[in-house]
Amino acid sequence: MSLTKPFIQNALRQVELPSGGDLVSNGAVAWIAACDAYANIRLSLPGADARARKNIASVVDAAVRAEAGAAGIDVAKLGVEFVDDQGGVVERFGQAPTAAEIPADTNQSPGQQQRPSAQGAPPSDAPTLHGVRHVIAVGAGKGGVGKSTVAVLLALALARKGHSVGLLDGDIYGPSLPTMLGLDALDATVINGKLQPFLVHGVKAVTLGKMVDPGKPLIWRGPMAHGAFKQLIERTAWGELDYLVIDLPPGTGDVPLTLAQSLSLSGAVVVCTPQKVAQDDATRAAAMFKQLGIDTLGVVENMSYFIGDPDAEGKTKTYDIFGRGGAEQMAQRLGLPFLGALPINTALRANLDAGRPSGCFDPATAGGDALPAAIEVLANNLESQVALATMGRAKPSLSIS
Ligand code: ADP
Repeated sequence: MSLTKPFIQNALRQVELPSGGDLVSNGAVAWIAACDAYANIRLSLPGADARARKNIASVVDAAVRAEAGAAGIDVAKLGVEFVDDQGGVVERFGQAPTAAEIPADTNQSPGQQQRPSAQGAPPSDAPTLHGVRHVIAVGAGKGGVGKSTVAVLLALALARKGHSVGLLDGDIYGPSLPTMLGLDALDATVINGKLQPFLVHGVKAVTLGKMVDPGKPLIWRGPMAHGAFKQLIERTAWGELDYLVIDLPPGTGDVPLTLAQSLSLSGAVVVCTPQKVAQDDATRAAAMFKQLGIDTLGVVENMSYFIGDPDAEGKTKTYDIFGRGGAEQMAQRLGLPFLGALPINTALRANLDAGRPSGCFDPATAGGDALPAAIEVLANNLESQVALATMGRAKPSLSIS
């Protein structure tokens, strides 16, 4: 058995506050990330002074360890952080797990992640993203399923709805954004120690791909990946954002753990193609998010179907090349929302290869209206899921009397 978010939440219900009620019922628990024997808890108690924070941290530590001990669960590291009402870390107690504690093997299954390390994030390191309302991670079980494509299209779709949107290329092993966003002619700029995002296609984009030699392989050891990704998040001048969309590397590994430790997320989107083999990997990605305490906002089925050229009468035929509906069934099986499906579309591939993602939104340059319509469905569903997640995960329920 390993530590999970509900288990820790339950333990925190045992911690009574001097003002009455427990930590959970008082809404003081801002965020929990748990992974095997490692956990990090963020508390929002603006009224607590330094002494009260110290007391509460030690009571929280004792409560979680006591519950874990009774259930036979090991606790290797337990971090307790106090945040202000903007989400900025005020003080940290104990040690949170570092990315080095998760093996760099990108195909590991959740539950295999145990590699104790002496490193812990110092308090001043605790990242904050002031002015960013919703952080959405886009992940996939395997590479090549269209994760970066979906991240780009969702970011642009949200921006086209009038939101202020940031797009972070977190795929530090194989950044795709320089090509997909057409950043070739642009150079990365730093002002006052802050990386300036590229303002392209209506979004603020940041990618490591513009800071490294495109011909060289990006080989990161666990702690290096942790550091590089953290810097991209923290050292960028994002300004005010409604949404920050993060394109994660494929599989399970260091970057998602760093992300879960660094930011409070609205949730994750899992991209999957319909085939069984892709579903198996996507299921692992969803399980990883769960283990990290990140809710999955929904599943996107990419390359769902293909629409052929019109015949002499102008009629088109749809081909289910990879088995349309496979990812949707997977979502149902896992009890996850299904955000929608994108067709296989030659114009989409051509637009992204040419750095013209906006071309996917206009039927004249998107191979017809199927793709723009499908992207709109995805963005609308994503917005609804984010709204639900923000309402304290309150999902609609039906009661029959
Ligand atoms: P990942 O991020 O999962 O590795 P990418 O988003 O980089 O995958 O996509 C891989 C390739 O497949 C890219 O060339 C992209 O343009 C293409 N592609 C992705 N989705 C589609 C689609 N629905 N139709 C056509 N080509 C697609």
